[in-house]
Amino acid sequence: MGCPEEKISICRFCHAACPVTVTLENGLPTAVAGNRASPSYDGFCCTRGQAMVDLFRHPDRLLHSQRRLPDGSHEPVASDTMMDEVAERVRRIVAEHGPESVAVYFGTACGSYPLASAFASGWLLSLGSRMIFSSMTIDQPGKLIAGAMMGGWEAGPHGFPTPMSG
Ligand code: SF4
Repeated sequence: MGCPEEKISICRFCHAACPVTVTLENGLPTAVAGNRASPSYDGFCCTRGQAMVDLFRHPDRLLHSQRRLPDGSHEPVASDTMMDEVAERVRRIVAEHGPESVAVYFGTACGSYPLASAFASGWLLSLGSRMIFSSMTIDQPGKLIAGAMMGGWEAGPHGFPTPMSG
């Protein structure tokens, strides 16, 4: 039995990205708590963040890429094989229909992984497609259209430590 160790991380459950400490025993997480040493959120970690350990250990957790079979069931597939198969399909789609027949959609959970949107956008742009969509462009396009028509507040968002004055 190794000694428990603590690692600094961020919660990836939602886009708030709360700073957390993760307790590991024998390399496996046993607890998640807010990181009080971080100036952001003052050590806050909600129940969803604390439940990340249960998610990690859940018996239904998806641990492999899955290939859908003709009967609708799924089978595990090695990541290298899956990427080769997806690359071949994308190559075929682009050859037949052009690069803009390929699109990327960012849902809410995607935003919780800091590199996901940057990598996906970069990949899509290098392919020659501008078809990037998100929960914002699909569900609330008025916010983006209003910003494009009216301009935005370039000073950035309000800082956490400073109270709003009215
Ligand atoms: S701790 Fe809660 S609020 Fe913070 S990122 Fe995780 S889910 Fe979101």
